Amino acid sequence: MKRFHNIINGKRIVSRSNETVVSVNPATEKPIASFPKGTAQDVHSAINAAEKAAEEWSATPPPKRGQILLRAAQILRKEKQNLGRLVTMEMGKVLPEGLGDVQESIDMLEYASGEGRRLFGHTTTSELPDKVAITLRSHVGVMGLITPWNFPTAIPAWKLAPCLVCGNTAVFKPASDTPLCALKMVELLERAGLPKGVVNFVTGSGGVVGAEIVRNKKIRGISFTGSREVGEFVVKNAGIKKIGLELGGKNGIIVMDDADLGMAVDGIVFGAYGTTGQRCTATSRVIVHRKVRQKLERVLTARIKKLRLGNGLKQSTDVGPLINKAAVEKVHEYTRIGLEEDGARLVTGGKPAKVGGKGFFYRPTLFTNVTPDMRIAQEEIFGPTLGMIEVKNLDEAVDAMNSVSYGLSAAIYTNRIRNAMVLLWTVYRSGKFPFMHSSAPADKETAFDWKRGETIRTPASYWGVNVHLNSKRRKEMRSKMNLKGVGFCFLFVLLASLLTAGTGCGLSMDEERAMLDAERDVEQMQSELSIGGFGVFAFDMDQCIEDCKEDNENDGTIENLQVYCETRCKFREIFGGLNGANTVAY
Ligand code: NAP
Repeated sequence: MKRFHNIINGKRIVSRSNETVVSVNPATEKPIASFPKGTAQDVHSAINAAEKAAEEWSATPPPKRGQILLRAAQILRKEKQNLGRLVTMEMGKVLPEGLGDVQESIDMLEYASGEGRRLFGHTTTSELPDKVAITLRSHVGVMGLITPWNFPTAIPAWKLAPCLVCGNTAVFKPASDTPLCALKMVELLERAGLPKGVVNFVTGSGGVVGAEIVRNKKIRGISFTGSREVGEFVVKNAGIKKIGLELGGKNGIIVMDDADLGMAVDGIVFGAYGTTGQRCTATSRVIVHRKVRQKLERVLTARIKKLRLGNGLKQSTDVGPLINKAAVEKVHEYTRIGLEEDGARLVTGGKPAKVGGKGFFYRPTLFTNVTPDMRIAQEEIFGPTLGMIEVKNLDEAVDAMNSVSYGLSAAIYTNRIRNAMVLLWTVYRSGKFPFMHSSAPADKETAFDWKRGETIRTPASYWGVNVHLNSKRRKEMRSKMNLKGVGFCFLFVLLASLLTAGTGCGLSMDEERAMLDAERDVEQMQSELSIGGFGVFAFDMDQCIEDCKEDNENDGTIENLQVYCETRCKFREIFGGLNGANTVAY
């Protein structure tokens, strides 16, 4: 078995403890690799290295930091197959999901690399004369990154990529069940050119290494993904730090009487049994209209019984193992709770299993006669256990969906758009759930920022980088304002409002949309061109119209393409000219 070490200031360092944590293949129970069981002193060394590296890294221009992440994404793309297999071996999810995990890491690295060009600040007005107020966004300092095992490359990428592009250095502690995948992500960054000491990797138990990262005052921010219990520990013990938490969920799918049941069953099976139910967004409640409950139960049960347990590397496997023995025991305890305390009806599953005499498997499980107040409908099981709740109408369904103290993701299968909109609005107002097909997938571009639903902030997405940024450097600079500048600014506002007012008096739908699209074009141009020096290029109206036609010719919603494109280009010229986007170049 291969033995690995902590990485501190770029060096492989033997831990002060002589103990190890061993990562194990959950399908075969074979050890994969050993890592140090780190100590608080190891964390201190890692913090010192991160502090040393901070000055240079935070001064590195953000686009340059982004380039390193982009290079890492390019390397990872080439190594996707190998790392995907390792994800399956170390964590257990089936290979297509292992590859998906790596793909998500690639996407995250690419996404964050672009943030290096978009770390905008904010300029605002002041209540005092001759004063300009500017807010700059800057790095936080040394960040503590703590990850779970269920997305063993993707979640390290969610943490590392935004943290680094914002100019922070890090002490990174991965889950003890999947340290090898996490190590591969750190090695990848090293190969992409990340300077020494910027990321320091310390393995070991949550109670020692994790707790020291949380408590240590030199760590200025924590980005944590894991259970609600440990999340609460972070909040209570971190002191004055910036904190980003992504915690557990109790997610649901509503199936209405007018739903396409085939589609609903596909979504439920994927949501509940994909990743063996070990996703924060896993579907663990299906809330079904009573008119279709029996049929859904019949079709769903037949599908569940066909799911094949096995080693995720085998093509024939539908559902892999749970992460470890303790997880099997926890899931099985919830089967007991469902039967003995809650009084629900077990339809299928409910037993641990072995494949070839080995592995931490659990049979895909379905309970019916579940009510929203039962423990199996309230608590996060984090395994392949689904509870079916029958309801009379949409109001009851929405109440059931919202009846949990957790939240995270929700979905509805219906053919009536009204049902979907009612759910969207009421669930949105509850502040617990964003919406996802089948309740399971997450998306880098969207934040899920749901306070009552436990996830306080995702590190991914445009908003997510804020976990890794401070906006404290608010500088108010006194200066004599350039009057010409003021005049120009007013002119822009005036013209923009005249143009906008124009939409109310006689612009066609195509023209109105063209104007909004032109505004967006200019914003995009600005964000792409806001780096580099200055140059001038002329705006070519004919070329603009030609490109616009080519780009939009298949858009069935534009009535008159010629009018739309002429208008879009006209507005683009005006907006671009006004705010300089047409005349700034590399
Ligand atoms: P966990 O037990 O909370 O562990 C998460 C991480 O925290 C691990 O690295 C763990 O180290 C560490 N840790 C444990 N105790 C600690 C302490 N006292 N101080 C600091 N760190 C500590 O969670 P898990 O079992 O790995 O992951 C499953 C949970 O994560 C589920 O609740 C799931 O819903 C949630 N999750 C949420 C999201 C989301 O986006 N909302 C995504 C994925 C997972 P050890 O491994 O050494 O114990």
